[in-house]
Amino acid sequence: MDTEKKQIALSLIQPSGTITLGNYLGAIRNWVKMQDEFDCIFALADLHTITVRQEPAKMRKNIIDAYASILACGIDVEKTLFFIQSHVHTHAEMAWILNCYTQFGELSRMTQFKDKSAKHADNINAGLFTYPSLMAADILLYQADRVPVGADQMQHLELARDIANRFNGLYPNVFKVPEAYIPKTGARVMSLQDPTKKMSKSDENVNGCVHLLDPPEVIMKKFKRAVTDSEACVRYGEGKDGINNLMDIYGAVTGLSHEQIERDFDGKGYGDFKTAVGEAVVEALRPVKSEYEKLIADKAYLESCYRKADEIALKISSRTLAKAKKKIGFI
Ligand code: AMP
Repeated sequence: MDTEKKQIALSLIQPSGTITLGNYLGAIRNWVKMQDEFDCIFALADLHTITVRQEPAKMRKNIIDAYASILACGIDVEKTLFFIQSHVHTHAEMAWILNCYTQFGELSRMTQFKDKSAKHADNINAGLFTYPSLMAADILLYQADRVPVGADQMQHLELARDIANRFNGLYPNVFKVPEAYIPKTGARVMSLQDPTKKMSKSDENVNGCVHLLDPPEVIMKKFKRAVTDSEACVRYGEGKDGINNLMDIYGAVTGLSHEQIERDFDGKGYGDFKTAVGEAVVEALRPVKSEYEKLIADKAYLESCYRKADEIALKISSRTLAKAKKKIGFI
């Protein structure tokens, strides 16, 4: 029997749109691999999505689609906790507490707040500002050892660590201070239309972002339209953001190195390369999509999965919340 206690790894993802190829290659595929090495806790961060206005019917569909898509990628509910944040009330409660141990200046320095408030200038709500305190609550409630994060979330994790240290300084031994976990194979996928920006669900140009559930012909079309350069040579290098991105994606789905890709496409044009990348992505996503179709047709099964996980998450997180409240002086 395996009696060795594994470290806890925790990560959340926003169900603010359908899951992207960036989410898959940059995060979820690593979650799947991490399931053997760690005790994994994953969740849909639906509370985070309402910092930006959501349309109710669409939000409901996004949440269930994201849940089914992530299971379809290979998350195993028998060994991994995968719950829905808004179903576990301790997150909002702990976020309030942590808000009171987070400084205005710290939150003001968050680049994501600056970016998002510039993008949604008509709705710079307090939730957008205090988002990192909720994220700190998500992490600290579970005494996580490791948090797999992309570069875009590093600043928030640093803040969560600062909050944990500050809180522990006042009231010892409440939170574990988590470390970042940078997976060896964490591809950063850029927009196909503006390869200087990361591929994102909120990309205004629909051709910039590939979604996990896009039909094969749509995926092919998006890759064929991908922005490249005028050199017409498949090689990794400076000033070739578009080709670099396509090579990264191709390498991530085929396992080929940049050198191998350069050799294979020596003398061939961008048209051939884009077709090859599109086809490789379609093939990589084929089993995920067919599993998704099966899961989404069985809502009762999906509900049984998240209800069970929600309950366990509540039990674990309630212990930390109770400890924090007692130390602060609540009776
Ligand atoms: P988000 O979609 O912003 O909630 O991000 C969820 C997870 O996916 C985080 O771990 C991100 O770092 C990761 N992620 C999002 N977009 C990309 C991308 N374009 N490339 C790589 N990882 C990404």
